[in-house]
Amino acid sequence: MIREGACHCRALRIECRGEPAKVSLCNCRDCQRRTGSLFCVAAFFPREAVRTLAGETMRYRRPSASGFAVTFHSCVTCGSAVWWEPDRMPHLIGVAAGCFADPDFPMPVQAVWAEDKHKWLELPAAIPLHPRNPPSSSTSPAPSFDSTAPVIATYEARHFDGVDALWRAAFPGDPPWNRAHIAIPEKLRIQPDLFLVAEAEGVVVGTAMAGYDGHRGWLYAVAVAEGLRRSGIGSALIEEAETRLRRRGCQKINLQIREGNEAVAAFYRRHGYAPEARMSMGKRLDSA
Ligand SMILES: [Zn+2]
Ligand SMILES: [Zn+2]
Repeated sequence: MIREGACHCRALRIECRGEPAKVSLCNCRDCQRRTGSLFCVAAFFPREAVRTLAGETMRYRRPSASGFAVTFHSCVTCGSAVWWEPDRMPHLIGVAAGCFADPDFPMPVQAVWAEDKHKWLELPAAIPLHPRNPPSSSTSPAPSFDSTAPVIATYEARHFDGVDALWRAAFPGDPPWNRAHIAIPEKLRIQPDLFLVAEAEGVVVGTAMAGYDGHRGWLYAVAVAEGLRRSGIGSALIEEAETRLRRRGCQKINLQIREGNEAVAAFYRRHGYAPEARMSMGKRLDSA
């Protein structure tokens, strides 16, 4: 089954394939303020089942009651939040159930944050009510990952060995000057807050390095540990890098990938990057 969802003004439209992995109702105060209503109903779909059909989004990232951040995507014209990416469940996309405007849409299988529920509101007895977040077990397609959802943070010295190992595995053909012992100290001298790591249970599972020179932003060293790719870690890293670049006033981001690396190109395309007809040139100053 393919469902189409849209914002209030219909400029932002998405397509969701198959049935949602979970439909959840949340009474938390963040959802109350965001919707202007008393609760939100989220339909969680696997990441690969959701596709944008039209429209531009504005992103808003905030911490959530669960302790993990959530990135909301809203229509730039009417402001409706149509979908969001919960760091807690990086393999899923939450879609506002109301955006389908379908009275036959499946009923929530749970209601969370009953603690914040408005007193007069009585939910159907068939929906189990949890005081806060339930234990993260039910119906997620990659449950083992749930409890170890990575945290995106600024690089710190304790991450060195993890980053070094990750880069050796992810960029085997890289020249020596890209190795951790050279690249990291250099990066720490300039805009160290634009060097990000993804950490799950104390293990470095991803990196992204960015820089802003006052004219353009650049993105480098986006890497995710093998076995955890396509789980949303790369996306979370890129989005955090974009957020931090934007905060510095950056309006355009460039990046380079090796010619013929279609998998990586496809990843960036999904994030709105497009190939530009330029010839990439470079010169090393140290060896001249
Ligand atoms: Zn709209
Ligand atoms: Zn909520």
